[in-house]
Amino acid sequence: MKQIGLIGGMSWESTKEYYRILNQLAAKELGGLHSAECIIASVDFGPIAEWMHRDEWEPIRKELISKARSLERAGAELVLIATNTMHLLADDVAAGISVPLLHIADAAGEACVNKGLKRVALMGTKFTMEMGFYTEKLKNTYGLKVVIPENEDRKKIDGIIFNELCAGIFTESSREYLIRTAGRLIEQGAEGVILGCTELPLMVKASDLPVPVLDTMELHAEKAFYTALND
Ligand code: GLU
Repeated sequence: MKQIGLIGGMSWESTKEYYRILNQLAAKELGGLHSAECIIASVDFGPIAEWMHRDEWEPIRKELISKARSLERAGAELVLIATNTMHLLADDVAAGISVPLLHIADAAGEACVNKGLKRVALMGTKFTMEMGFYTEKLKNTYGLKVVIPENEDRKKIDGIIFNELCAGIFTESSREYLIRTAGRLIEQGAEGVILGCTELPLMVKASDLPVPVLDTMELHAEKAFYTALND
């Protein structure tokens, strides 16, 4: 099995879930006490979240490329950025290393196509919902129609992600709000809901919604595991 490198800490609440899933899949597929060979390069999310909200992407770009290179030097044979939002910089990170970077929107897009979905809702940070890098990939590579929440909902979801979920705060009122917002997108014709933030699956589960729920954190970790196992 190839060694998987994770750029983590964005936030660590979801990075630990990647680690759990990779190891559980190794035990399931390889049996016994097998676990996943992986390396995590974890950032300090404090300054990164501040830079993001000030629209200062250059220091983040440098940090992510540096972490990706450190993973490659340590022996990673494929690299993941364990967050959706930072895929804004995925092309730069991929160009900075010589091992493959597995894009999270490919994991999401492939799962939508496999489920026969054509029109999907996307929920995530305001960057992921609004900046185009994610929706364009889903549209152009996977032929999906993507609907996103209204402006006010986008702001509120972004606040929940950064002020609550990334800080390990999980409240019933935010959970209900996220489910209601997804419900409105389903009423507008969404056939599935992409949880395009790696913390959202910590709160919203497949059983909460009447359509398929695409958990990008799980899909990304699974794609990495099977790539590492089979390639
Ligand atoms: N983990 C989140 C995501 O998947 C948000 C935090 C971040 O900006 O990295 O987008």
